[in-house]
Amino acid sequence: MARPPLLVIGRYPDWDLQPMRQDFDVTQLAGPEEIAGLDAGLRGVVRAIAYRSQRRLGGAEMDLLQGLGLVAKFGVGFEAIDVAAARARGVRVTNTPDVLSDDVADLAVAMLIAQARRMLPATRYLRAGRWAKEGPVPLAGTVSGRRVGIVGLGRIGRAIADRLTAFKMEIHYHSRAPKPVPEDWRFHDDPVSLAAAVDFLVVAIVGGSETEGYVSAQALSALGSEGIVVNISRGSTIDEAAMLDALEAGRLGGAALDVFRGEPEIDPRFLKLENVLALPHIGSATVSTRQAMGALQRANIAAFHEGRAVLTPVV
Ligand code: NAP
Repeated sequence: MARPPLLVIGRYPDWDLQPMRQDFDVTQLAGPEEIAGLDAGLRGVVRAIAYRSQRRLGGAEMDLLQGLGLVAKFGVGFEAIDVAAARARGVRVTNTPDVLSDDVADLAVAMLIAQARRMLPATRYLRAGRWAKEGPVPLAGTVSGRRVGIVGLGRIGRAIADRLTAFKMEIHYHSRAPKPVPEDWRFHDDPVSLAAAVDFLVVAIVGGSETEGYVSAQALSALGSEGIVVNISRGSTIDEAAMLDALEAGRLGGAALDVFRGEPEIDPRFLKLENVLALPHIGSATVSTRQAMGALQRANIAAFHEGRAVLTPVV
């Protein structure tokens, strides 16, 4: 039997491409803007897309594929896909939640500790030979027992909070409504009051237009000159210009950031700041998690093609 067609959009390693090629007749594109250039016959028969691009997949692109029924996103964040347009066209959208939460939460905790303890400036100091010449580095801040605020107690936010209880931290959080949590965790109904109550603010909400600048200039100001913000969500969720201004002026203590507006091009102002720990979006970047994400994406595609319920639907 002929293998069904599959449109694969974005870069994939061989460990994902090989199994996709085994089960499907794969056509690979760099981005959604290349769909229009495909042969009309192929555009008529493609039913599913394996999507791994940060570029926007909107209704106009979906309309070029008359038989489209599924967009299977690699990754949990799906703000690049116009889900309202998909819903209106009866196109299912899936993502890859849960399998990456532990890795992302581990990284968030590592970033918080590294920034509070000033590990990167300390290693730079050592490598520059300054320890021997000038003596010990300036003292840093404590982590254990202090107050942390989680913006968005979803899957990843909860995994971060659970880890931080082991550091005897006081857990505060903001979600759109209170969640079933241990009774000593404190709910805040807006990000500003959350920021005002804590030493560390960890951002774990979804990206996209609805959460644009969710952590505002006011929230950063409430966090204050000793406060540290950690962002593992999306660059769009923090008012980045206000954050840069506050970091440069010393009105915000520090930032540990895995995500940026316009990444991978990032604002060069970040690179000049000693109080910034900047990482190139590596939250889920481990071999076993990336393999698990690929396997879940393929399981969704297989379920769709076999007429079974998809495993992790967004729409
Ligand atoms: P999740 O379980 O769906 O949690 C999403 C969180 O976002 C929830 O707390 C939710 O609020 C909040 N949220 C959703 N829509 C909102 C809105 N309109 N206004 C305010 N808050 C809203 O997702 P997850 O698995 O934890 O993943 C969270 C995000 O992490 C992803 O969307 C992705 O962008 C990011 N991420 C980053 C990396 C990385 O490599 N750095 C890796 C994986 C994921 P409620 O609590 O009120 O429901």
